[in-house]
Amino acid sequence: MPTIKVITFDLDNTLWDVQRVMIKAEQHLRSWLTAEVPEVVAHYSGEALRDLRTTVLAEHPNLVHDLSKLRREVIYQAIRRCGYGRIEAGTRADAAFAEFYEARHRVEYFEGALETLATLAENYLLGALTNGNADFKKLQLDRFFSFGVSSADVGVGKPAPDMFINALNRADALAVEAIHVGDHLIDDIQGAATVGMHTIWVNLKDQPLMPDTINPSATVSRISDVPASVVAIEQTP
Ligand SMILES: [Mg+2]
Repeated sequence: MPTIKVITFDLDNTLWDVQRVMIKAEQHLRSWLTAEVPEVVAHYSGEALRDLRTTVLAEHPNLVHDLSKLRREVIYQAIRRCGYGRIEAGTRADAAFAEFYEARHRVEYFEGALETLATLAENYLLGALTNGNADFKKLQLDRFFSFGVSSADVGVGKPAPDMFINALNRADALAVEAIHVGDHLIDDIQGAATVGMHTIWVNLKDQPLMPDTINPSATVSRISDVPASVVAIEQTP
């Protein structure tokens, strides 16, 4: 029977609905730009900004692992293309990004998420493992998480083994002593399973197992069922 030492959690769409928070953060950014750099809003619709993001990403493909830098760069380029000089555009892009980043952290946790983390933190080392740019410390989740691993720091995102190995090193744990919890079948479940970790698939929307070659150690439809799944994994012969 495995002894579990560490449990890592994906953040976006595992602990909160990221689309919901992003829509609001984008709206907040747009109203800030409307007041502070109105030329950008006049010249760039939401779609035009997405096109610019594609252009920036084509020029700097590595930024896909660092969504904060990518977004700041897109804002900067938009401001530059509205005729601002480098320094002025840089200052405004920093301010705009800061506004966005604050709003991006106004998350609404899934029911039971914080209680579940609190329960698990009593008995296990917990870590955050994200490809996104949510900062667990900014969310005061360092009450529960002892460490965090982000794709921006590692230079590559899940499902790359580097992310999971980095987490295991941080926890000084073997893969068999670790469980990763996440919503994404490839990035979270397949990625963690590849390095030998146990996995709990958070399937809140009742999605089918696709592809069916992926076998999570356990599946939950509510985050509050994770502790019971951890116990079940520990009791597996
Ligand atoms: Mg996720």
